[in-house]
Amino acid sequence: MTYQYGHFINGAALSGTSGLFGDVYNPSTGEVEKQVALATVDEVSAAVAAAEAAFPAWSATNPQRRARVMFKFKQLLEDNMDALAKLLSEEHGKVIADSKGDIQRGLEVIEVACGIANMQKGEYTDGAGPGIDVYSMRQPLGVCAGITPFNFPAMIPMWMFGMAIAAGNTFVLKPSEKDPGVPLKLVELFMEAGAPEGVLNVVNGDKTSVDALLDHPSVQAISFVGSSDIAHYVYSRGTAAGKRVQAMGGAKNHGIVLPDADLDQVVQDLLGSAYGSAGERCMALPVAVPVGEDTADRLLEKLVPEIDKLKVGISTDPDAHYGPLVSAAHRQKVRDYVQMGVDEGAELVVDGRDFSLQGYEDGFFMGPCLFDKVTPEMTTYKEEIFGPVLQIVRAKTFEEAAELPTKHQYGNGVAIFTRNGNFAREFASKVQVGMVGINVPIPVPVSYHSFGGWKRSAFGDTNQYGMEGLRFYTKVKTVTQRWPTGQTEDSAFIIPTMQ
Ligand code: NAD
Repeated sequence: MTYQYGHFINGAALSGTSGLFGDVYNPSTGEVEKQVALATVDEVSAAVAAAEAAFPAWSATNPQRRARVMFKFKQLLEDNMDALAKLLSEEHGKVIADSKGDIQRGLEVIEVACGIANMQKGEYTDGAGPGIDVYSMRQPLGVCAGITPFNFPAMIPMWMFGMAIAAGNTFVLKPSEKDPGVPLKLVELFMEAGAPEGVLNVVNGDKTSVDALLDHPSVQAISFVGSSDIAHYVYSRGTAAGKRVQAMGGAKNHGIVLPDADLDQVVQDLLGSAYGSAGERCMALPVAVPVGEDTADRLLEKLVPEIDKLKVGISTDPDAHYGPLVSAAHRQKVRDYVQMGVDEGAELVVDGRDFSLQGYEDGFFMGPCLFDKVTPEMTTYKEEIFGPVLQIVRAKTFEEAAELPTKHQYGNGVAIFTRNGNFAREFASKVQVGMVGINVPIPVPVSYHSFGGWKRSAFGDTNQYGMEGLRFYTKVKTVTQRWPTGQTEDSAFIIPTMQ
């Protein structure tokens, strides 16, 4: 019988009760290797109840003891890195080294969460008025929930529960139903690290479980990462229910290439950031904007032979640059976008649509595609493709190039490649995008800064992880105190001021 993933509630692994299952594929073979139970509303309620019951004791646990769980968890992640990466690659399709990067990026958020005692310290003013002191504290919210996408099944759950739980909240995670194996392993390791029962729970499921979390009166905050339409839906429904919501969405990141850029380096940067993980990254760089016809021609001349050398392979092939797409349906969607690009009049310079891997003909592979002469009016430019497809949009001037990411519906990441500090500085200052790279193709901020896009790439106003993450998962309380001196003061009928 096919192995069936269930849920993890109140410290225990449980089988699902709905009788409904999603298929979990190995994208390299194209076979259904496991199934995942899809939770009922009652199962979601049980997870929330477990988190609610665990909250009073966990929030009262002193921050250094909470941090010790994080330290131990970090150690367990390191000890289990190989097994976690193998499982991640099997279900997602990204190559092993990239899966390790996925886990490591989450681990780095846990490293920051180890410093929670320092981060969550309040502020104190001695003598704000006569005999008056003021102090403020950041208190946890209660039960928080995270809903995560398929493309980073380790990193994104840890962005969320790492900071939330370190700050004293309890958590219910609803991971992607496409690759639930690693999130379930993470909760097991977290328990092994000493977390009390109910502090972290995992329910697997689909829209039913997402809606149940959005509507549950005991859930105080929802963190979502996924596609933009669903992000907007989660934001609207969650905030309408009075919850704090941060909802990160899709992306279409541009790389502006100025004539003075180091083109050999740009080619290497574009290869990794456009085709790494088969382009299934919200911080991929699927649009290159060379400035000037000469820059575009030189870039293409160097790029095409390097694309031809890319090796697409199974996720356990150590020589493969990238593996299969996550599902046959998603690969079809990407292929359809490529056909649409052809129909719209863009020039398909490299066509990887019909790539097939010998011995793995049923795997969800796709070769790299490269479009030249894409224009901003094209649908394939406006929308997120999320596959191994790089589009070149030729711009005549720096100003024309710089406008493109600002005008685009998405505003997650952007990069500029140049040796000119003035252009780079002006661009970074003015562009309407949340994360900017200067000669850095994938500017995912390190774990002690924070992650977030603009426009349709993020709804809500607080970023993931770092101090922004802490702010999202805590609320500020400010205490103004005075102690009796034995002197009775007259009533004050005007608002107290500091005059
Ligand atoms: P998705 O939106 O299909 O799914 C994300 C989550 O939402 C999953 O847990 C899924 O079960 C749930 N979901 C799906 N349909 C739903 C519905 N109708 N109602 C309620 N919940 C629903 O996204 P995906 O395909 O798993 O991930 C890829 C997308 O995520 C891309 O658009 C990518 O750009 C984006 N992404 C964004 C970031 C970021 O930080 N901005 C990071 C990673 C991925």
